[in-house]
Amino acid sequence: MNEAESIEVLCRELAAAGVPCRRGEPMSGHTTWRIGGPADVLVEPESRAQLLSGLEAARRAGVPAAVIGRGSNLLFADEGFRGAVFQVGRKMDAIAVDGRRIAAEAGALACRVALAACRHGLAGLEHTAGIPGTIGGLLAMNGGSQQRCVGESVEWVEACGDGGEIRRLDRAACGFAYRDSLFLHEPGLTIVCVSLALADGTRADIRRTMLGYLKERRRKFPRKAPSCGSVFKSSPELYARAGPPGRIIESLGFKGRRAGGAVVSPQHANFIVNTGGARAADVLALIRAIREAVHARHGLWMETEARYVRPHGVMVPAHEAAGAERRAPSGVEA
Ligand SMILES: Cc1cc2nc3c(=O)[nH]c(=O)nc-3n(C[C@H](O)[C@H](O)[C@H](O)COP(=O)(O)OP(=O)(O)OC[C@H]3O[C@@H](n4cnc5c(N)ncnc54)[C@H](O)[C@@H]3O)c2cc1C
Repeated sequence: MNEAESIEVLCRELAAAGVPCRRGEPMSGHTTWRIGGPADVLVEPESRAQLLSGLEAARRAGVPAAVIGRGSNLLFADEGFRGAVFQVGRKMDAIAVDGRRIAAEAGALACRVALAACRHGLAGLEHTAGIPGTIGGLLAMNGGSQQRCVGESVEWVEACGDGGEIRRLDRAACGFAYRDSLFLHEPGLTIVCVSLALADGTRADIRRTMLGYLKERRRKFPRKAPSCGSVFKSSPELYARAGPPGRIIESLGFKGRRAGGAVVSPQHANFIVNTGGARAADVLALIRAIREAVHARHGLWMETEARYVRPHGVMVPAHEAAGAERRAPSGVEA
């Protein structure tokens, strides 16, 4: 079977199983950066059963699959994606509170999980206030703020493996590290749901803390232009020498630097915003230019938190696709 035939087979199977899907869907409509060409198929499962049967159908048809949440940390290639993107969201978003535990389906928005915790007087997720992803995406990225990571609160994660089997992984098995987890290295492992173990707190205190963090975010981060949040990760070595990524990038004069429609935010230099019509190539050009300048000044290569989705489905940290170590910067205006 060639690629087009495999896609046909997959779409027939999805239709027969009643799994919602769309053909040729631009990924710019499914990522917060508003960038990315069309995916051959976008699958939007409405239940765990649909997600599992859809992934199984893609495996049988030999179609590459990528699982995403809200796309708030992703840069899809301008060429799009030759395969099936499974977007876990909206309809797979149940949240249940039981004592000090919260169980959430992967598609639940992280901010809704944090709100549920607050309502029940459960502390530990305040630092996730304002992060726009799903709890599945946040776990895969081990995201957070205020020097905290969501992995700290995980009791277990239920994930679907390559062969369709459901595995329950405890926190140690999830391989959490700073903005990293097992799930970024085993793309065949799809998070289905999670149990978070939280601490007793006071509703009013939790609420006050969350509102404080939200206020700080509104003051520091660009709010209107599409972005993926912080592009570069902090590195302890670089931090000790020169500070956080935003300060380093700003000190090298990058604020306002443009490549096509992509601009280094004048408000926060670790954000690259889409000012209209930005292409993935524009963002990669800025990432490359920044990395080269930082390396020239400080002797270290910065790594990105943002991930790039190659046209054939492999996801890599965006700096690997930008390839600063190999090529000179191009297309970046002073
Ligand atoms: C304005 C803004 C502010 C932000 N602030 C922060 C912040 O303060 N802290 C922070 O950590 N991040 C921040 N981010 C980045 C981003 O929101 C987080 O990384 C987020 O948790 C990603 O969730 P998502 O659902 O959008 O995942 P996506 O971007 O869709 O995917 C990210 C990764 O997770 C994987 N993934 C997603 N769902 C699943 C699943 N069900 N099973 C297996 N793998 C999965 C994907 O394959 C991909 O590798 C910000 C982004 C924006 C736009």
